[in-house]
Amino acid sequence: MTFTCPDIPDHEGFAAPVLPTGELASSASAFTRTFVGHQAACSCGWVDRRRFPATPEGAKETEYQWWSRHAASLIAAAPPGELVIKSNLLCERIVALAAERPLAALTLLSQVESWQRTLLDQAVAGAREASVSWAQIGEAMGISKQSAHERFRAHVSS
Ligand SMILES: [Zn+2]
Repeated sequence: MTFTCPDIPDHEGFAAPVLPTGELASSASAFTRTFVGHQAACSCGWVDRRRFPATPEGAKETEYQWWSRHAASLIAAAPPGELVIKSNLLCERIVALAAERPLAALTLLSQVESWQRTLLDQAVAGAREASVSWAQIGEAMGISKQSAHERFRAHVSS
């Protein structure tokens, strides 16, 4: 049994059986070995610290942990798939344009850069107003909490 959400296709949650040694067993080996509990885990390597009983109910508890402690924040930071497709398409088109007509690509890229900066400031300000932490903002952008704070603190009130 795995837990999935189409918005975060790279994450597959599961109830990881805990071996008597405290280590987590892969779900396949759980059928042949004794285990003492369940912990929520994800295909990305995330593991929840809370341990639940080695029962079907305990395994079910891990699903809620995966959703609330791991998937919810990832889903909040996952852009709609249709926009990701459009963004990738725009990038591909600009790469092709730069090869054929570099000056036209420069004109377009400078336009993109001007609205991208403004929108980035607005998105960070909106996130801060919604009480999103600098750590979460950094994570969404693939940078550290410190880098996010240094880069945007002048543009937002908090
Ligand atoms: Zn994950």
